[in-house]
Amino acid sequence: MRVSVVLFTADLRLHDHPPLRAALAAADAVVPLFVRDRAVEEAGFAAPNRRAFLEDCLVDLDASLRERGGRLVVRSGDLVAEVCRVAAEAGAEEVHVSAGYSGFAARREERLRSALAADRRRLSVHDAVTVAVPPGTVTPAGSDHFAVFTPYHRHWTRFPLRPALAAPRRVPVPDGIGGERLPAPGAVTGVSPALPPGGESRGRERMTAYWRQGLDDYDTTHDDLAADATSRLSAHLHFGTLSPVELVHRARRRGGAGAEAFVRQLAWRDFHRQVLAARPESAHRDYRTRHDHWRTERTAAADIDAWREGRTGYPVIDAAMRQLRAEGWMHNRARLLTAGFLTKTLYVDWRIGAAHFLYWLVDGDLANNQLNWQWMAGTGTDTRPNRVLNPVIQGRRYDPDGAYVRRWLPGLAEVDGPGLHEPWKLPGPVRAALDYPDPVIGLSAGLERFRRARGGQP
Ligand code: FAD
Repeated sequence: MRVSVVLFTADLRLHDHPPLRAALAAADAVVPLFVRDRAVEEAGFAAPNRRAFLEDCLVDLDASLRERGGRLVVRSGDLVAEVCRVAAEAGAEEVHVSAGYSGFAARREERLRSALAADRRRLSVHDAVTVAVPPGTVTPAGSDHFAVFTPYHRHWTRFPLRPALAAPRRVPVPDGIGGERLPAPGAVTGVSPALPPGGESRGRERMTAYWRQGLDDYDTTHDDLAADATSRLSAHLHFGTLSPVELVHRARRRGGAGAEAFVRQLAWRDFHRQVLAARPESAHRDYRTRHDHWRTERTAAADIDAWREGRTGYPVIDAAMRQLRAEGWMHNRARLLTAGFLTKTLYVDWRIGAAHFLYWLVDGDLANNQLNWQWMAGTGTDTRPNRVLNPVIQGRRYDPDGAYVRRWLPGLAEVDGPGLHEPWKLPGPVRAALDYPDPVIGLSAGLERFRRARGGQP
């Protein structure tokens, strides 16, 4: 009997899964394997929200495999050693895996390839599983990646996608390959109280619901903070419980301005991945340095704490920071505002903000998080690196009646109208009755410091 191993990583689904389909086509049985990689844990990347979502994904994947006659084998330890061990136990000649695009993923893949080769086994790496258009497939003349989104998007749109694959009907798994028991639901502690559940089944339900109601209006509603009208599919894309290729096909079939704007966001996701794949160090270092001497934990501890805890005195910033902790998720417009506030108004190192986001975000993703942070800090791919988003103006524009702020800041629940975004201007007695702090810094003072630091006009 020919057996292959399918190593699941950031692709925890059965629909549109090229490695699984390829393994089933070439072998009589497969071992669907997930390894809790010790290196990921040691790097601190397995924060509680993502760990809890991951457990849901594994339970759901196991259940779907069981419906098809199989099961999921889960192991823990050094990923390379565990994959080699399982391949040897199963007598597998080949291991199938999806390509990953970070420096970590590239190094791990190389180690795995040579360890398997030493045992005379093959590693088969499949592209376009966790992205729609793989890094390196569209490039500008003379470079290995696009540094500006607009031309990238033009090329990305023209790139022919592979067709989306159906989920297999049967997944035969050989007997005798042992694995760990999956933990009971709720076993992970320290998670956000309103964390969404994970798993492919939930992802597909969410996709279907959004297609029914939401997608067609995406172009007009995606920036409305209170409407909360974006897809909320980001964690499913991060864990691969939904396929970006399938989403692009479905959205294109739907057509219209909403679907088109949504597909553009998926192109942003691929854009950041091709930057990270070409410049792995941009996860931690400025992609384009502006020679900043950022404030840090040592020089700005009180401001950083106020930002993290949602008590900067700027309502839209504080509301967003509280949403992050409560849900493990934050609206994109709010991510832009809070990142801009930390880096430009408080002039704090983007890495401090990015680390806080990575701890709480259930969709916390190295490429999207670090490179969006760099975009806002002006050290990344933004062609206007000194742009500053004013939280009062942005609050009035994207949360005009203050519903988003009131949802997250009970201290301002009684304040109506546009004055909500500038509570320090409210009449003395009203202001004094509020349970809400004064601003940690004046906006013009912050702007002036940033202007001096960058040596130019923001
Ligand atoms: P939708 O608006 O419905 O968009 C659909 C999908 O497109 C998203 O699920 C996401 O996969 C992708 N997408 C949307 N906007 C972006 C973008 N600006 N860049 C890249 N991809 C995008 N996204 C993450 O997935 N993980 C992160 O860790 C992350 N950190 C961020 C940090 C900052 C400072 C900023 C400004 C943005 C960050 N984003 C991150 C991008 C974006 O905010 C989220 O993808 C989006 O808010 C998720 O909500 P949604 O699924 O409803 O998005």
